[in-house]
Amino acid sequence: MKIVMCASEVVPYAKTGGLADVTGALPVALEKLGHEVVVIMPKYKNIKDDSAIMGKNIKVYFIKGDNYFGRESLYGDKNGDYKDNLDRFSFYCRQSLDLLKKIKFAPDIIHVHDWQASLIPVYLKTLYAGDVFYKGIKTILTIHNIGYQGLFPKEEFPKLGLDWSFFNIECLEFYDKVNVLKGGMVFSDIINTVSPTYSKEIQAKEFGFGLDGLLNKRKDSLFGILNGLDYSIWNPESDKFIAANFSLQDPEAKAKDKGDLQKLCKLPLKKDIPLFGIVSRLAEQKGFDILAEAMEEICKMKLQLVILGTGDLRYHLVLEEMVKKYPGVISLNLKFDDSLAHKIYAGSDIFLMPSKYEPCGLGQLISLRYGTLPLVFKTGGLADTVSADNGFVFDAYGKDGLIACIKKAVRSFKNAQGWKNLMKNAMQCDFSWGESAKEYLRLYELAKKR
Ligand code: ADP
Repeated sequence: MKIVMCASEVVPYAKTGGLADVTGALPVALEKLGHEVVVIMPKYKNIKDDSAIMGKNIKVYFIKGDNYFGRESLYGDKNGDYKDNLDRFSFYCRQSLDLLKKIKFAPDIIHVHDWQASLIPVYLKTLYAGDVFYKGIKTILTIHNIGYQGLFPKEEFPKLGLDWSFFNIECLEFYDKVNVLKGGMVFSDIINTVSPTYSKEIQAKEFGFGLDGLLNKRKDSLFGILNGLDYSIWNPESDKFIAANFSLQDPEAKAKDKGDLQKLCKLPLKKDIPLFGIVSRLAEQKGFDILAEAMEEICKMKLQLVILGTGDLRYHLVLEEMVKKYPGVISLNLKFDDSLAHKIYAGSDIFLMPSKYEPCGLGQLISLRYGTLPLVFKTGGLADTVSADNGFVFDAYGKDGLIACIKKAVRSFKNAQGWKNLMKNAMQCDFSWGESAKEYLRLYELAKKR
């Protein structure tokens, strides 16, 4: 099959979150299954060439537009989202479609991700509908997080080049605004999200962010496929960032990684105290509302906590306050740092990820592979991957549920044999891309029949 993958970020070229991990790994897994894949993404400032090769022979094309993409960040700066994001990503979508014609690559499937690529299915069925080159191409939209929809003022609608008749509730209109993700959901042949549980949750009001009605209407076209993890990057046996490599058979060296992390983070070198790690965007979605409330109590427990992340200023402030009050308990690293992330996954005993909602989540998958037991709220992809056999789960979202669960984990840590068993279960979990890629192929086949 011929597949085009369109996304605003792809590892190793640009990453702000899990989306990039997925779009970096899925093409390679599909290629391994014998399919031809082309990847198209914007040419950001750090990208020097116009194209690259991924996997064995996957062509990656970078859409040029210095005014739009030659900036420090992908989507915004300290003042918030870039004001011209609709111009930037509608440009990316049209250029991507034009590029296919230029390179004479007519795919069976265009697989688009999130709102930034959502105008591709819209344009295919509108502006490009009369062009025979694009005839028969089917589209699938993966929603990585329905909380991010690409909402713009109505006044910007003409920028899309579409007739005003498409600004209605059946198409791109959403409470008198332009909703780009909604456009993608209306016009793509198949929609999927990144875990089975999340695909069900978003059909309910609580998690649907206003799009639950439309999802219910398109129920027969909505699926959930769990993300895989790229074990060539996330592998404690070969990880170059960590102090000592270890494996399921030989997990002892993990203790060295813990010591290394404590040293690096200027925490007391203690083996018998559980070390909790967080690698996350500092956002309410990731559970920082209840974490902030619970932080004082957490810091009074016999544990250590390393936090790596950036995000909402209010959480930066709360955490900075806690560090001042409880030095030697918390290490706060307000930055994006891939190397430190690896060290945290390897060196921690417990990975704290109490997300309020979680489409799939990669942090818990990574930590499982590193024998770092995830502590999660039972939602979305976390519910699909973490249980009492490989981690700690609480099911009433709130400060009290979180604290009780942390206390339970601290108690469990004292039982060395029990802990070893949990670690073993965790490290044995297999969330590799092979299976997920096969499930995507089934969706592509289904799309071809639409
Ligand atoms: P998101 O909703 O942010 O995409 P995921 O759990 O799906 O959450 O994926 C987050 C990815 O980004 C993981 O690979 C995680 O390790 C990485 N990550 C998040 N914050 C940081 C950071 N501050 N430094 C390094 N890596 C980070």
